[in-house]
Amino acid sequence: MRLRTRVLDLVTLSGTVTGTEPVTARMRRLRIGGDALAGLAVRPGQQVRVLVGGALTRRTYSVWRYDPAGAVELCVLNHPGAGPGARWGHSARVGDMVRLGRPEGSFTLRPEAAHHFFAGEETASVAFGAMLAALPEGARISGCVETETAADRLPLPHTARLRWLIRGETALPDAVRELAPAPGGSAYVAGQARVVQQVRQVLVRELGWDRRTVLTKPFWAPGRRGPE
Ligand SMILES: Cc1cc2nc3c(=O)[nH]c(=O)nc-3n(C[C@H](O)[C@H](O)[C@H](O)COP(=O)(O)OP(=O)(O)OC[C@H]3O[C@@H](n4cnc5c(N)ncnc54)[C@H](O)[C@@H]3O)c2cc1C
Repeated sequence: MRLRTRVLDLVTLSGTVTGTEPVTARMRRLRIGGDALAGLAVRPGQQVRVLVGGALTRRTYSVWRYDPAGAVELCVLNHPGAGPGARWGHSARVGDMVRLGRPEGSFTLRPEAAHHFFAGEETASVAFGAMLAALPEGARISGCVETETAADRLPLPHTARLRWLIRGETALPDAVRELAPAPGGSAYVAGQARVVQQVRQVLVRELGWDRRTVLTKPFWAPGRRGPE
């Protein structure tokens, strides 16, 4: 047991849950603090891998906010198939110890882009929140975000520039076809794997975006566990 703890200490950062609160109808925000979390290099849109059930079960969550003094905020969706990740997100209590990896990933804001277009759903909107918070007021921003209900909308910076959709009404690829600006900026597309693929095809094949300017990240797929 002690050996396992020592190994985990070497390969993970540890922190403590210092706050929890509902941030939408089905999403809970967790604040995790600790000395090991101070001074990390975090780019807007990056994620951390969290041990959510013993040493072997990990789930990935975008960093909603980062405080360099030593705190990471995550927003975890309580989806209907609730696996270990959703269960952890909704049962974690203040004082619980959390082990997580360093922030990672290349699904990140490209600050130099001429305009920024966002497309995704609830889980993607967490990464979008971090990216949008890093953009100045004068930035050219647009996008479409689909949620189950209006009560599932995260409070995103620049929210008035986004089109909010209700699942089952306008499909995300159709909204993108209608709303995407002309190529020349950066697009950020994340969420359900198949929808991410469809939106990418709309942007690249139908609307002529250069594929290198369309950043995609599948966050989950029906019937599949993880990804870790
Ligand atoms: C880079 C990255 C960033 C991510 N950021 C976030 C984040 O900020 N917040 C967040 O909540 N999740 C995020 N995710 C998804 C997260 O990692 C887990 O996949 C998610 O929490 C489900 O884990 P689970 O253990 O509850 O379910 P699992 O055991 O992994 O899956 C069980 C089943 O639940 C269903 N399911 C899974 N996710 C969803 C969903 N979103 N909606 C409906 N059904 C679903 C699927 O059918 C799946 O087979 C991110 C994933 C990646 C790769």
